[in-house]
Amino acid sequence: MAISVPVAQATVSALPLSQLVSRPYLELLELAPAVSFKAQDFEALRKELAQQRRAEAERLQKEEKDLDARLGELRGQLKSLNKEASRDTEKMAERRQTVHCEILRLEKIRSEKRVEREHGMPVAFDNRLAKADLLEQWPAKKIEVDRFIADGRARERRFGDIEDIGVRKISSDQEKDIKLGEEAVRDMKLYSLMPPELEQKEATAYVRSLAERIAANSDMTVPVKVTVLRSQEINAFAMPGGFLFINTGLLEKVENESELAGVIAHELAHVSARHGAQMLKRARLASLFLQSAQIAAMIATGGVAGIGLYYALQGGFFGLGMVLNLSLLGVNRKFEVEADQLGTQYAWHSGYDPRGFITFFDKMASEKGYVKSASFFRTHPPFFERILSSVSEIEYLPKSEALKMDSTEFREFKQRLADAVKKEASADKKKPALRREPECPAEPEGTTSTSALVPASCGVCLTEE
Ligand SMILES: [Zn+2]
Repeated sequence: MAISVPVAQATVSALPLSQLVSRPYLELLELAPAVSFKAQDFEALRKELAQQRRAEAERLQKEEKDLDARLGELRGQLKSLNKEASRDTEKMAERRQTVHCEILRLEKIRSEKRVEREHGMPVAFDNRLAKADLLEQWPAKKIEVDRFIADGRARERRFGDIEDIGVRKISSDQEKDIKLGEEAVRDMKLYSLMPPELEQKEATAYVRSLAERIAANSDMTVPVKVTVLRSQEINAFAMPGGFLFINTGLLEKVENESELAGVIAHELAHVSARHGAQMLKRARLASLFLQSAQIAAMIATGGVAGIGLYYALQGGFFGLGMVLNLSLLGVNRKFEVEADQLGTQYAWHSGYDPRGFITFFDKMASEKGYVKSASFFRTHPPFFERILSSVSEIEYLPKSEALKMDSTEFREFKQRLADAVKKEASADKKKPALRREPECPAEPEGTTSTSALVPASCGVCLTEE
C-alpha cells in the first residue's frame, strides 16, 4: 500500500536521523510510520548524542573553571587594594566598586552556568533521545493502541473510564491534604521563598477561571486555589490540597490557551491523584525546610557564598522551583507519567486540544540557554515514557473537531500580562530593599548573562530528589 505523505512532510522525512530528532514531537508522530531506519541507525545516533553530551559538559565545565579563575583574580585585586592604605582614596574607591560589580556579575554567570550543566543541558539531550525512541517505537505502539480500541478494550487501560471523570474515584480523602498544603505554603512564605504575587487583577482572574474550569473537569474533590507568582522562572507547581502556583515566566512563555491548559491539567492531576501526599509520608520535610532556611539566610545576609543564588532568586530565574524538594510536590518517575496521562484527559475533558502540553513541553526542552526553564524539568524525567504516556492517551481519547487551541480571552490576557509584568517590575525598583550590592551598571534588558556567553549549540513537572 502506498503511503501518502504531504510534500512538506516528505521533505522532512528525507532528513537524516540526527536532524530529525530536532523536529517537534507532533511532527515526528505523523512521520514515524513513514520513515524506515534500521536498529543500527538508532544505535549510531545514540552513541553520537552521548558523545556530544560529554563534549558539551566538558565545555561548560571549562567555562566554569575559567570563571573561577577570573573570580580568584578579582578577589586578589581586592586584597592588594586593601594593602595599599588604611582608607580608600577616591580613585581606590572607584576601582573597588568596579571590582565588586564584576565579581557580582561573574558570580551570577557562574551559578547560571552550573544550572545549565547540571539540568538544562541533560534535558536537551534527553529530549532528543526520547525523539529517537519515539521514531523507533511509536508505529508499533500506535498499532497496539488502535487494536485495543478496535477490540472494544480501550477502557481496560489504567484510568480508562474517561466518561466518568469527576465521578470515578482515583484517590480518596483529598481534603485531608489541605492542612498539609497550607502548612507548606506558610513555611515557604515564612522563609521568604515565595516570590511576590502578580497584582494585576484581570490577568490573575483569567488564570484562576481557566484553572477552575479544568478542576471542574478533573478528578479533584477539593477547590483549586490559584496564585500567580511574579517570577521569571518558567514553572508551575501544585501543593497537596489544591494550591496551584503559576509563575509569570511560564505564563509569558505559553503561546496558546491549550498549552496553558495542558500545564494546569498536569498539575491538577498531581493533586487529584494525591501524589504529593503519598510522597510526603516518606519525605523528610524537616530537611527540606532546613535547607530552604539556609538559603534564605544566605540571601538575607548577602554573604558571598549566597551572591550567585541571591541574584538568581532576585532575577527569579531558578528560584523557588530549584529550592523546592521534589518529594514535597510528589514528583517521581511513576507519578510524572501518571500525571501526564491524567493531565491529557483533563485538558481534553475541559475542551482543549491535549497536544498543547506536548508542544509546550517540547519547546521548554529545546529552549536555548535553559536557565529559566531548568526547574520545569528538574525531575530528570524519563522523557520517552512521559511523551509515550501522553500520546498513547491522546490516541485512546475520542477524536473531536471541537477541541480548542486558543481564545480571544487568552490573547487579551497575554497583552495584560505583558504590561503588568513590566509595570510591576519597574515598581519594584523604587521599593527599598535589603541589598548590599553596590550600584552597578545595568545589563541591557532582555539578555541574561548566560545567553550572552553560551553559543547556541545546544530545553510540569518540575524539579529532583
Ligand atoms: Zn508533574
